[in-house]
Amino acid sequence: MNWISLTSEENSFDEIPMSNGLTAVFITTFGLSATIFAETETQKALTVFMLEKDQSCVGRGNVGFALSELPWRRQTFKQDKAFFLQTLSGIKEELGWQTLDYEPEKELLFPVVNRLIQLTEQLTEELIEEAAAVEWLMAAKEDDPIVTGFPRCEEHQLLLSLYGCHACNDK
Ligand SMILES: [Zn+2]
Repeated sequence: MNWISLTSEENSFDEIPMSNGLTAVFITTFGLSATIFAETETQKALTVFMLEKDQSCVGRGNVGFALSELPWRRQTFKQDKAFFLQTLSGIKEELGWQTLDYEPEKELLFPVVNRLIQLTEQLTEELIEEAAAVEWLMAAKEDDPIVTGFPRCEEHQLLLSLYGCHACNDK
């Protein structure tokens, strides 16, 4: 079982639990939508952070993170939060799904997307953990997609993470 919460503090009431299969579908569809909307480096980095939650590499059931830990920047938080919400809504418009060789189960996926929209709406500038963001950005090696100009998968048009293409890995 995986989870996404608002902050990394121990108050699990806001935690969204997800099965392994649903997590993989959510991350892929998030990435497909985000890749369309991401314009700035920060928005692409937020997308890659999400796509790194790749169970084929980090282990099944090992995904757990808080929205506050994403690589947000205070200067552009408002625009980037709007981008994140637009991306979540884009999942419900099935953006990029034509590149997939399966049909995501909307009855399972969309309720999770709706809960994440609610959770993201609660995220404020005060809650973001810039130290976690800096740590993540500093940990990038020289061949990491976040330092090599954000390459994409040719087949899925998805931004790559250091583990490659999330949709290819999930096949
Ligand atoms: Zn791919």
